[in-house]
Amino acid sequence: MVDKDKVLHGVQMLLDGLGVDLQNKHFQNTPERAANAWVDEICSGLGEKKFSLTTFPAGENYEPSMVVLQHIPVKSVCAHHLLPFIGEATVAYIPDELLCGISKLSRIVDYFSRRPQVQEELTSDIANFLCENLAPQGAGVIIKATHLCMAMRGVGHDGVMTTSSLKGSFLRESNVRAEFMALAHTESLNKL
Ligand SMILES: [Zn+2]
Repeated sequence: MVDKDKVLHGVQMLLDGLGVDLQNKHFQNTPERAANAWVDEICSGLGEKKFSLTTFPAGENYEPSMVVLQHIPVKSVCAHHLLPFIGEATVAYIPDELLCGISKLSRIVDYFSRRPQVQEELTSDIANFLCENLAPQGAGVIIKATHLCMAMRGVGHDGVMTTSSLKGSFLRESNVRAEFMALAHTESLNKL
């Protein structure tokens, strides 16, 4: 359960523990600002409100083929250090009887990104959500991200971590998987 007062108190404790002067003009309202950002934005996916997906029945003459959305921004925080990981997702599915608006694929990524987690589980949570809500023939999600917990501490290298989650025909059929990988690696329009 989300409790903004506890988050605010926690930020005060963090800064106090670091020896930061909370009376300094730059820090006076920092606990409130940080609590608002963590609760209302960075971790809004932890709130009570669940994401609901609007679906549409596919037309009778529609022959299901792969739908791919690339370059979806991913901005989340890692579960282990509470530092950001930032990158891009590719989300794809082959419909069976249901379709969803293309922007919803972006909204699903946004919704699941807004909480502390590990990239591996974010990737599979998005794929599972697609399967539960669209019952597609198959689905695939690839996320590439740079983790600031690796860049700002520890080894100090940027690196790009790639995770994937494949479901249904994406997992079972090598030609479907090959099509997904080919489409997932095409350049964005402004680079063509
Ligand atoms: Zn981390």
